[in-house]
Amino acid sequence: MALTFEQARACVLREVSAGRGSLPTEQIRSLEAAGRVLAEEVLADRDYPPFPRSARDGFAVRAGDVPGELTVIGEVRAGEVYRGSVSPGGAVEIMTGAPLPEGADAIVMVEHTERSGDRVKITRSIKAGENFNARGIEARQGGIVLRPGCRLGFAEIALLAMVGRECATVYKRPRVAILPTGDEIVEAGQQPELFQIRNSNAWSMAVQVGRAGGDPQILPIARDNYESTRGLIEQGLTHDLLLLSGGVSAGKYDIVERVLADLGAKFFFDRVLVQPGQPLVFGHIGSEDRGKFFFGLPGNPASTMVTFEVFARAAVELLGGAAEAPLPLLRARLSKDVWHKPGLTRFLPAQVSPDGSTVTPEPWQGSGDVNSLARANAFLVAEPDRESWAAGDMIRVLLK
Ligand code: AMP
Ligand code: MG
Repeated sequence: MALTFEQARACVLREVSAGRGSLPTEQIRSLEAAGRVLAEEVLADRDYPPFPRSARDGFAVRAGDVPGELTVIGEVRAGEVYRGSVSPGGAVEIMTGAPLPEGADAIVMVEHTERSGDRVKITRSIKAGENFNARGIEARQGGIVLRPGCRLGFAEIALLAMVGRECATVYKRPRVAILPTGDEIVEAGQQPELFQIRNSNAWSMAVQVGRAGGDPQILPIARDNYESTRGLIEQGLTHDLLLLSGGVSAGKYDIVERVLADLGAKFFFDRVLVQPGQPLVFGHIGSEDRGKFFFGLPGNPASTMVTFEVFARAAVELLGGAAEAPLPLLRARLSKDVWHKPGLTRFLPAQVSPDGSTVTPEPWQGSGDVNSLARANAFLVAEPDRESWAAGDMIRVLLK
């Protein structure tokens, strides 16, 4: 059955989220956890900030005392504590990151002061609470600062360091089998005959799987006969996810679906109204709790890459424990007119300007044009219910 782009994506998200079961975890060093998915709750070990922390260089004062002229009774730098207390008419010189002294309730920026000897003149008024972060305002001791399913990037790993976690429990990377198919395909290191094609899909898919947090395992090329395809599909199903490329069109030798059906597969869809990539198979084999998901991606290189990005990538991310798998979509202004035949959601190679504001379609010759995809840094997303866009119109863009 054929689904729209949105229906097919919703189907992948729903089925994989519901069918992924409990996922294996491991403990690793936080500094090595970039890109991994957290499998535990991380709690704040103390209040953050742990003390009322100055956000400015300036003077700690009692807000009620200013504007006015105050007596400077001391100084406090980051890494120190002021032992005394600020009484009416007093001020303590304070640096960014230092704890607010007792008695003070605001910090006046040094730019707004005039110092002479132990006197400081402040001409503007200020409200209590200004220019410092109250203790515990960012996080409370014992509160959750990171949740399971969160992908660890630079900010999340900084947070692990902040709360003193040198190690973290993360989900294991899902092992993803990559199974190229086709009698005409030879390995990248081989010299092809005129009528043969090098296996570029296994490489693009391996990169995409790795980027999605999976551990790619490239299988030998399945030939377009029943025995070869079945043997390698069975091998692929010993992994956490099976990704096939090619062999899912309507051709006489496209036998992937037949083999999968013979193995008892349940098909959620086998056609999606997208281009590139219309013939696209997604299904599940085996019992509900211990079975495996598979995708049969169309073999044309651009189709394989695009359908991986918009469908299979979400499955790899979810099988890796991610709580969600959003698409990196934004909107940009078209630099020239664009039109397409309505009915399909089209993903067209494009260049987003360095400032992210405008987008230009990249010349392209159709689903086999890897050159165009390599030049592009994004895809235009042409909606199926619209025929044309004029230069200056906003359009959706998927980052590459
Ligand atoms: P298929 O989906 O099997 O009909 O293949 C569609 C097109 O993609 C054909 O022109 C194939 O030669 C090409 N193709 C299939 N598999 C690969 C691959 N692994 N690497 C590069 N091109 C491929
Ligand atoms: Mg083929």
